[in-house]
Amino acid sequence: MDQFTQNYVDGFMADLMAKNPGEKAFHQAVKEVLESVAPYIVEHPYLMDQKIMERIVEPERIIIFRVPWLNDEGEVQINRGYRVQMNSAIGPYKGGIRFHPSVNLSIMKFLAFEQTFKNSLTTLPMGAGKGGSDFDPKGKSDNEVMRFCQSFMSELQKHIGADTDVPAGDIGVGGREIGYMFGQYKRLRNEFTGVLTGKAIPSGGSLIRPEATGFGAVYYVVEMLKSFGDDIKGKTFAVSGFGNVAWGTVKKVNELGGKVVTISGPDGYVYDPEGIKLDIVKDIKEVKRGRISEYADQVASATYTADENGSKGIWTIPCDIALPCATQNEVNLDNAKSIVANGVKYYVEVSNMPSTNEAIAYLKANGVIVAPSKAVNAGGVAVSGLEMSQNSMRYSWSAEEVDEKLKMIMKNIFANSVKAANDYGLGDDLVAGANIAGFVKVCEAMKIQGVAY
Ligand code: NDP
Repeated sequence: MDQFTQNYVDGFMADLMAKNPGEKAFHQAVKEVLESVAPYIVEHPYLMDQKIMERIVEPERIIIFRVPWLNDEGEVQINRGYRVQMNSAIGPYKGGIRFHPSVNLSIMKFLAFEQTFKNSLTTLPMGAGKGGSDFDPKGKSDNEVMRFCQSFMSELQKHIGADTDVPAGDIGVGGREIGYMFGQYKRLRNEFTGVLTGKAIPSGGSLIRPEATGFGAVYYVVEMLKSFGDDIKGKTFAVSGFGNVAWGTVKKVNELGGKVVTISGPDGYVYDPEGIKLDIVKDIKEVKRGRISEYADQVASATYTADENGSKGIWTIPCDIALPCATQNEVNLDNAKSIVANGVKYYVEVSNMPSTNEAIAYLKANGVIVAPSKAVNAGGVAVSGLEMSQNSMRYSWSAEEVDEKLKMIMKNIFANSVKAANDYGLGDDLVAGANIAGFVKVCEAMKIQGVAY
């Protein structure tokens, strides 16, 4: 990066940090994108004149609200709800809802910011948003989760709509939570529209949506391996997490002839050299809503390692391809060193911002091919976009039709990222390629629409 561009990045980050103090995850996400797109910005003076990047980092609107609810003992509980409506240049705000005790404004803003480029990469007309609450569904009864979701939606419904803002699931928000929120939305607004995606099939959901993020990630891996003259068959994968995304990923890797040997929770990880058995994982997660250690109790070939450090030990397990699928910053510099020491050739981010910027720099510097989450996990929001289309048409596509469209979208995301990297002389830098490809479309839409927002 030349000195002029470096000064631009440094000045921009200093302003951002002064204006958004303490929002570390948001600073990290902006810095990662800015370093990729800064050369493009300085080459196109209108972007600087129009302060496009300065506008992109400023959410169009943030809604923060009280979520009161009653637990099963009749005691009043209070959580905080958020919706960050980040960017509507290319479509209605779109992005998931996260229920996790770690949720705060910084996390919401980093996720909404990432969503801007991810949604653009899908080529579907979707703007960006993200929402959630510090509510923890873990250990709550179904009735408690229902009362919380109803209270959350009682406020959120004032700010969303099928053509305004269309939330979906994320960590802690699956089919159950979406169902309760959709029911409450309908009751209050008296309309049956595609206001939420990730709905169950009888409520207007799309086939393949629950699997879409994981399936899409593996379709991306297939394209990536093909481009390096490689193949998924016989490859060993280390996967972290055992939620919705990890599940879809493991299912598709198994189908295509690879082998996943790990899964994890916040308290530890499981290593099964014979390959993770998905039916057992699904039963623990969705039926028993239990802990990951139960897998090793049931499967003789598996071992469970308790790990108070957020399961980071998982990255010491030998594999060909590392696939973090749990949460942000689950891979730090030390973990990146273990990954390199293990001879891993491909590091594919599936969860949002799973790696610290230092970890990415170390992996790249040591010859590991890094695939960025905003491209790899875009299949989830892409099929949400397809759910919106089906809802608008009052029609449903077959699983094969949705899967075929998903495959095509992931193929195009990979191709467009490679093209952007090549156009800007960045070789096989898939991270910079995805950032630039996603950024350009949003910039053009903002330019056309004037300084309206
Ligand atoms: P889930 O809540 O279904 O699963 C998250 C999983 O990660 C759970 O198994 C959770 O364990 C585990 N986990 C949480 N914190 C840690 C930690 N510190 N260390 C190890 N494991 C941890 O969420 P999703 O699968 O939906 O989301 C996973 C990631 O993918 C997130 O980054 C999300 O933003 C991203 N994503 C999700 C999409 C979707 O369609 N759902 C779309 C695009 C991205 P436990 O349940 O025990 O807490």
